[in-house]
Amino acid sequence: MNSQTGNPWRRANCPVCGADRPAFLTHDWQTVAGRRYTFDLVRCQICGMVYINPRLNREAVTGTGGGGAWHDALQVNRPIYEAGCRRLKAILRAPGTPALLDIGCAYGDFPSVASEHGFSVTGLEIDQQVAAAARARGFMVYDEPLEHLSLPGESFDVITLWDVIEHLNDPKSLLRAALCLLRPGGLLSFHSGNAAFQVTKGRILGVLRPGKGPYNAPFQHVSHFSPGTARRLLCEVGDFDHLEFDHLEFGHLDTLRYQSRPKYLAMKTYNKATRWLNRAGLPLWTTSLVAFARKAG
Ligand SMILES: [Zn+2]
Repeated sequence: MNSQTGNPWRRANCPVCGADRPAFLTHDWQTVAGRRYTFDLVRCQICGMVYINPRLNREAVTGTGGGGAWHDALQVNRPIYEAGCRRLKAILRAPGTPALLDIGCAYGDFPSVASEHGFSVTGLEIDQQVAAAARARGFMVYDEPLEHLSLPGESFDVITLWDVIEHLNDPKSLLRAALCLLRPGGLLSFHSGNAAFQVTKGRILGVLRPGKGPYNAPFQHVSHFSPGTARRLLCEVGDFDHLEFDHLEFGHLDTLRYQSRPKYLAMKTYNKATRWLNRAGLPLWTTSLVAFARKAG
């Protein structure tokens, strides 16, 4: 209907609980395909999920991708990838060379780090040019959506999504498909921005740079998870498929190694301080969030 009327906006229910009870939080702005748009960041009044509503219909905005595979990101992301691999191995406790599927592997940066840590890595990247670049680094890379692939069930020990889930209109569908591919005892992990930090950042930047944006890339980043909403998302997906997790963990891994050293040191100090406050019982205010869910064996 939207494409017929020329309306590029599409209302979205809460991506976690499915309710249509949004409460406005703040505005964000972004120029997409040469046009300036104003976005509403909202919080679901039922489950607390923070998301963009309405959303800019990606099919109606021609000439744009929904994501942003990023060249030369390995040095910036390496501390997080390294910490992630160490934590995956600690929770998985699998002997040998665990089979890992990295969904949204972009140019193969995480696969290269995971290979160094002893994982046997397969990638999935739906941008075919980017997938070809990752393949050229020596990895097996699928270049179709997971739902279109006929992969055998329970064939992976680990499935990872690094900074992917915030881009998805329907994260539940992808997680359900991913969990089918995970063997009993296997680990699903996703990394994303942390809602508490992102909302605060948007509000502060809205005061410092009113009307400018983008504060949180609202065209691409349509969902902002917290430990609570990430837990609810995983539990809803698990309940739907009658599967259980015997380990659920939500936390923070490390800080991006920003090219600006003062910015890197400031954010690292901030994350350390907020992790300490979290251990003392306060909510998690770190810049990013990681979730680990182990499928019961
Ligand atoms: Zn909700």
